[in-house]
Amino acid sequence: MSLGWSRRAPVDTLVGTDTVIDFSIPLAELPRVSHELTTSDGEANGRVRFSRQLGHAVADLEVKAGPAVVCQRCMQPMRWPVDVNSRIALVVDYEAADRVPEGFDVYLVEADSVSVRELVDEEVMLALPNVPRHAEGSECAGRELKLPGQEAEAPDEAADAQVQKPFAQLGELLKRK
Ligand SMILES: [Zn+2]
Repeated sequence: MSLGWSRRAPVDTLVGTDTVIDFSIPLAELPRVSHELTTSDGEANGRVRFSRQLGHAVADLEVKAGPAVVCQRCMQPMRWPVDVNSRIALVVDYEAADRVPEGFDVYLVEADSVSVRELVDEEVMLALPNVPRHAEGSECAGRELKLPGQEAEAPDEAADAQVQKPFAQLGELLKRK
């Protein structure tokens, strides 16, 4: 069965035919995720498999993406690695949601239909941290700023540059090395 990631389809049909959809969705096409990005390039790639499990309509979703966000420690752009493998129960109301066994994510379906785009948007949003930061001991430029022996920066100017011109700030750091 051929079905695009953007089309909404009845959950009963998707589940009844054990539909499998491979997708490659531009991040700019994900309604909520696109609002969190510093640059909207990149794609979410993966596969979703619909089936009925334990009496529930289920979407098994694998998705990988590298959305561009800003590290809140060093204010440099970074790619947040998203690698999600989730089992989502598609429910029509809160009562049904209460019956979903442990180990399932729950997605409330509107009007008995769902699109792959909606599911991927939801799962990538859940994978994004509230405060993205480079990992400790990684390439975070915040560490460079705190190295002992380095000249202190003019505080006000430095802060402005950090907020408004992250790339220019990086250029200054590289020149000084
Ligand atoms: Zn950082």
